[in-house]
Amino acid sequence: MSRVYNFSAGPAVLPEEVLDICAGELKEYGSSGMSVMEMSHRSKDFEQIIETAEADLRELMNIPDNYKVLFLQGGGHTQFAMVPMNLMRNRVADYIITGQWAKKAAKEAEMYGKVNVVASSADRNFTYIPDLSDLNISPDADYVYICQNNTIYGTTIKSLPNTKGKDLVSDISSMFLSEPMDVSKYGILWGGAQKNVGPAGVTIVIIREDLIREDVLPFTPSMLRYKIHADNKSLYNTPPCYNIYVCGLVFKWLKAMGGLEKMKKRNEEKAKLLYDFLDSSSLFKGTVEKKDRSLMNVPFVTGDEELDKRFVAGAASEGLKNLKGHRTVGGMRASLYNAMPIEGVRKLVAFMGEFEKETLK
Ligand SMILES: *Cc1c(COP(=O)(O)O)cnc(C)c1O
Repeated sequence: MSRVYNFSAGPAVLPEEVLDICAGELKEYGSSGMSVMEMSHRSKDFEQIIETAEADLRELMNIPDNYKVLFLQGGGHTQFAMVPMNLMRNRVADYIITGQWAKKAAKEAEMYGKVNVVASSADRNFTYIPDLSDLNISPDADYVYICQNNTIYGTTIKSLPNTKGKDLVSDISSMFLSEPMDVSKYGILWGGAQKNVGPAGVTIVIIREDLIREDVLPFTPSMLRYKIHADNKSLYNTPPCYNIYVCGLVFKWLKAMGGLEKMKKRNEEKAKLLYDFLDSSSLFKGTVEKKDRSLMNVPFVTGDEELDKRFVAGAASEGLKNLKGHRTVGGMRASLYNAMPIEGVRKLVAFMGEFEKETLK
């Protein structure tokens, strides 16, 4: 077996230690006599799996007691609809557009109410984060929406917007658990697990209790009501049991690694290796403004499409996989999620150095 360094933006690399546990427990979980995949979601064993996962997540993120944690399905795209359906009481919301995912979320919300774009970085292909300190927040906005880490463009909102008292909803899919966050600053935080947390198929929603309400838009299906899931502790219907189990193992791994402060340091160290190289390279360059750079997703280009292609192919043959950039940015993108070991980034930077020498000689 030879595992590669997988720089995919998602689904993405998982900790090898977690995969080993999954392999060991695949046929029999504990002394249950069966796989987690075969277990009733109402069984004692699964109840313990989901409760432990939630407790560990609460501990890792220091989630206040007045927030609920929900394990849902439908991915990020379902949250694009669930947020407005559950929160748009005045049928008005303010969106900050810093990339494709925020844009898509805004477009979905337009089906339910009036969407005001209060800031956007579309003018320069989302290569920066606009100033969010004094926005024209709508007086009747039900919430302000951001995508905090822009997976495709490689930017992060580092200072939260001044929402002027409105509840902040944040898509944290590609930065979930990469660093500590102050949950109390948000109304809702949500993320698809497949970027930095676990396998595709589970979406984790952290929501302040007063936003879990009965008076949602009247046509909202039961499955898209936060209240139904909160009242049933994420067991209203069959949840993605195995995925929740894997997320739980990742939470345990993160705790053993020393928690989110430690992960942040580690992620900063990894990102610095690559950004320092990009800043000193005469062939490769980063595509976003330095102050807004993401720790998780690093897009870069040579400026020559043919060369980019050759680089991606050459890197793949060295076991550095999935470095092709998103089609809207071109070039390359290296995703440096929690589970990417620093050795992977060292090897990438070394290969970039060799490729550069070879190309410019
Ligand atoms: C991947 C991604 C999404 C879309 O998630 P799906 O689960 O595929 O619907 C949304 N937001 C961000 C920030 C993402 O990275």
